[in-house]
Amino acid sequence: MGLLAAGTPLCWDEARRYSEHIRTEGIEQLLYVFQKAGKRDNDPLYWGDELEYMMVEVDNGNSNAMVDVVHDYVLTELNTDPSSKLLCKEHNVEFHPEYGRYMIEATPGVPYHGLADESYVEYNMAQRRKIADYKLSKFNSAEKHTRYVVLSLTSFPRLGTDNFINIPNPWNHKNSASRSLFLPDEIINRHVRFPTLTANIRTRRGEKVCINIPMYKDEKTPKHDTSIYPRDWFVPEDMEAAEVSKPGHIYMDAMGFGMGSSCLQMTYQAPNIEKARFLYDSLVNFAPVLLSLSAAAPVFKGWLADQDVRWNVISGAVDCRTPWERSEEPALPQYNIAGCGGVAPRDRKHLQRIPKSRYSAVDLFLGGHNKFFNRTYNDANVPVNTTVLKRLLENDIAPLDYDLAKHFAHLFIRDSVSIFEESINQDRETSTNHFENLQSTNWQTLRFKPPTQKAVPSNKKAPGWRVEFRPLEVQLTDFENAAFATFLYLVVDAVLTFSDNLNPYLMMSKVWENMHIAHNRDSVRGDKFHWKKKFNTESPDTSLCSIDEIFHSASNGIFSNFINPILSYRNLIDKDWQELKTSVTHKRLYYYLALISKRASGELPSTARYMRHFILNHSDYKQDSRVSELINYDLILLAERITNLDNSNDEITGFFGQEISEYLLQNRL
Ligand code: ADP
Ligand code: MG
Ligand code: MG
Ligand code: MG
Ligand code: MG
Ligand code: MG
Repeated sequence: MGLLAAGTPLCWDEARRYSEHIRTEGIEQLLYVFQKAGKRDNDPLYWGDELEYMMVEVDNGNSNAMVDVVHDYVLTELNTDPSSKLLCKEHNVEFHPEYGRYMIEATPGVPYHGLADESYVEYNMAQRRKIADYKLSKFNSAEKHTRYVVLSLTSFPRLGTDNFINIPNPWNHKNSASRSLFLPDEIINRHVRFPTLTANIRTRRGEKVCINIPMYKDEKTPKHDTSIYPRDWFVPEDMEAAEVSKPGHIYMDAMGFGMGSSCLQMTYQAPNIEKARFLYDSLVNFAPVLLSLSAAAPVFKGWLADQDVRWNVISGAVDCRTPWERSEEPALPQYNIAGCGGVAPRDRKHLQRIPKSRYSAVDLFLGGHNKFFNRTYNDANVPVNTTVLKRLLENDIAPLDYDLAKHFAHLFIRDSVSIFEESINQDRETSTNHFENLQSTNWQTLRFKPPTQKAVPSNKKAPGWRVEFRPLEVQLTDFENAAFATFLYLVVDAVLTFSDNLNPYLMMSKVWENMHIAHNRDSVRGDKFHWKKKFNTESPDTSLCSIDEIFHSASNGIFSNFINPILSYRNLIDKDWQELKTSVTHKRLYYYLALISKRASGELPSTARYMRHFILNHSDYKQDSRVSELINYDLILLAERITNLDNSNDEITGFFGQEISEYLLQNRL
């Protein structure tokens, strides 16, 4: 995906008239995908990552750091200007738009194949950062004491507070898309798709989105989020905060608080659909564990949170469910009759209770023809669209089996929240537009990515069946991001290679519980997760394990069951990954795995813990959980030094420990 095409997005009242059309046609498109691409086989393990960056203005004159919403045309230029396009092509990188106007997503141009050269992933990430930096740093001004930097921060700490955005007077007009008390619409990507999506989610829900995140409790932390203020621009939205904000919580009320955060995603191609289903199922319980390990978001809206990750902030930020669907009371019952929000009266009889937001943990194992799956493992409450289910099971095009049909029938309980007037009519046999409309707005920890109808078995140019891993918080340095991406690559290779001997299944409800546990502050050190007792038996039994055990246990740990066997099978080691340290050609791989291992054991801090420690010990910190402009400024400068592996204050040593930092400082890519 490069830039988005122009078009006319429909507002909710228009869009809702086409919801059923999009669903019906989307399912027909999917059936043709199965008909054409169902028999593909032997696709290579291509893979790639997506990294999201924030453009930040560092104002040295005022000791402040802000999200940069002024220079988003850098992204347009990277996709349109011939010399920039050539630069990207030569370096095998691509830049994509994201929700935030201050955000840039970047991927490799063509995917990686296997682990041919283990440092290439990091090298490619470094090229992306260099190109974005080179474009943005042109606006640096010594006279104005300002610099522009590209950082891979999971959440911008002061998003939604005073002076967090680099335009004057963002509040001299109303923010009609989000109606937020805190985020002006100028944080939203200028492409009209994004403000419309924001407004449509709010309108369907019948009230603003509502996110209450536990506030970190310090000696002088106020009992309420004191940044809430009275306003009367929008009735009734401006009356909601008083009703729905919870004591002891950070209150957020806009899509931007979630979709304005960044993450690291990886997509892996499986040889065929059966293996793709097995890979998906195998990664289901890695999601909460790696979310916990990658924690990098301890601050929201200028407050220290009592959690370290972004995930539930995004879940809440795009939760389009009506109060009735959520089984909750409306914020203001007199304005949200029967709790049905913006659902058209004629559609209300079809509503059902929906336990989770469209952004949430995976719902169902995909199952398939593997010897370990048992349908009873899908024990969580997952509503389905019965019309869709029936059509997928009974049709003349390509009937699906029950478990796969149920997966899609669940995704298709949602309404489309983004429809372009120009794309209402689509072909069933050549377009996947309507299918992707719902597929790509079901944001789960994993995404099962079918190909298009072009992907007939003989057309190896078209991508095949892929699985995307989406929970990871983005890390500050290319080294860490490459470490996570490569670590998971090895897990994927192990799953695909040893699929007859690795039973990944546990009860789905346990995975949902793990997702909650991953949200506890410092869960990486302090909590226990449901984890398989054994991977080589029929049993789905789990026990509660710390992250340290999950990675390092000799009997059921990730290193002993996935990493060592695959490294040995690929002839990189004899028995143990630590042998890589003395390897001539795979030394860097050792350090990637060492980073993961030391974070998992607690020897090294997570990014979130490191940042929290910095804030709590800052001279401007007043024991009130507030992250002031000055603290934020210093935190951003610290993040920049870490990004650049600048050890002038010994911070690289503190962050990575002696062993890794020594290697890194001497072996920059
Ligand atoms: P999305 O935003 O829909 O997840 P992107 O295009 O941003 O998709 O990213 C997809 C990722 O998948 C990129 O890193 C890309 O390099 C990678 N990729 C592309 N083709 C394949 C393929 N055939 N198999 C696996 N990964 C692929
Ligand atoms: Mg992408
Ligand atoms: Mg993205
Ligand atoms: Mg995002
Ligand atoms: Mg993606
Ligand atoms: Mg995307």
